[in-house]
Amino acid sequence: MTRTLHIVAEAPTMEGRRDVVTAVRRGFFGRCPNCGEGRMFRAYLKVADACPVCGEDLSPQRADDAPAYVTMLIMGHFIVAGILAVDELWPNLPMLPVAVGFAVR
Ligand SMILES: [Zn+2]
Repeated sequence: MTRTLHIVAEAPTMEGRRDVVTAVRRGFFGRCPNCGEGRMFRAYLKVADACPVCGEDLSPQRADDAPAYVTMLIMGHFIVAGILAVDELWPNLPMLPVAVGFAVR
């Protein structure tokens, strides 16, 4: 007995494709790259496992250390400016208690 295996390849359709520019724009605004409705983050810098609206699997969206790095880069400018301003306003202020106070908080 001979069996014949038929493999049917479907041509890719536009339904399975996603416009990269649209997906990046949606992701930039924190929305699901698939539907643009659901939130992509479940907490600050924490990507949701799936879109709550369309169910798109968002777990492969790995940002690694980039969001934390960008946050520190931006906030560092404010912190350094604050330290310099405090030092300029109160030059004899001991900085160690101030630094420990911010670190404990
Ligand atoms: Zn979605």
